[in-house]
Amino acid sequence: MRKYVIMGVQGSGKSTQATMLAADLDLAHISVGDIFRWHVQQHTKMGAQVRRVMAAGELVGDELAEAVTAERLSQHDWNYGFVIDGFPRNRRQAEFFLESYDIDGVIQLDLPDSEVRRRVLARRLCSGCGMDYNLIAGRPAVEGTCDVCGGTLVTREDDTEEALAVRLRDYHEKTDPVLDLFRRKEYVATIDARPGKAEIQQAIRGSLRLPPYQPAAGQ
Ligand code: AMP
Repeated sequence: MRKYVIMGVQGSGKSTQATMLAADLDLAHISVGDIFRWHVQQHTKMGAQVRRVMAAGELVGDELAEAVTAERLSQHDWNYGFVIDGFPRNRRQAEFFLESYDIDGVIQLDLPDSEVRRRVLARRLCSGCGMDYNLIAGRPAVEGTCDVCGGTLVTREDDTEEALAVRLRDYHEKTDPVLDLFRRKEYVATIDARPGKAEIQQAIRGSLRLPPYQPAAGQ
């Protein structure tokens, strides 16, 4: 059983790297942000509660974030382990998490704020299947259209200059201290998030002493 936390500021490639790691090692990829986005898209009661907060780039209340995470982890569909992304985001959440789960490693994707800004403002998301695109590095074949499902590409509601400034400030004020806490208790692998995605994945594997990443042909 392998249990990892992946951390990094918005646009650092957390979701991409967590997906690659989870697919290869049969881990459940648990993204708290994705769960909240699903609720917004489905217009659930919770979605209505969090939509404005998310769009402003602010953090949802701890109680709700903790409840959503605990509920997701209680599904126990993670026989081989999990990689959790987007949680914990502050000290209280970290303490809550460590009370219930022991973890094998924390992956910190490190990216300077200037690069974060460049990447996040170029980020697009398929409104149909959720596939991620980036107008700098991962353009779709047809502008504005998803290569996979043909859906329309949209900008995440919180990928604006204003919301990004809030998220960066929160990250440094609230999430950086979580890394200090993990550094004292657990193994933190700090990975440079600037190279290409295969190289980053390789570095993660090396740091966590996992089998090397073998990209599929053509990647
Ligand atoms: P993410 O996809 O991880 O960037 O998360 C998108 C948004 O969901 C964040 O800006 C927050 O509004 C909310 N969110 C995700 N995870 C948490 C968390 N652990 N605590 C509070 N809010 C969260």
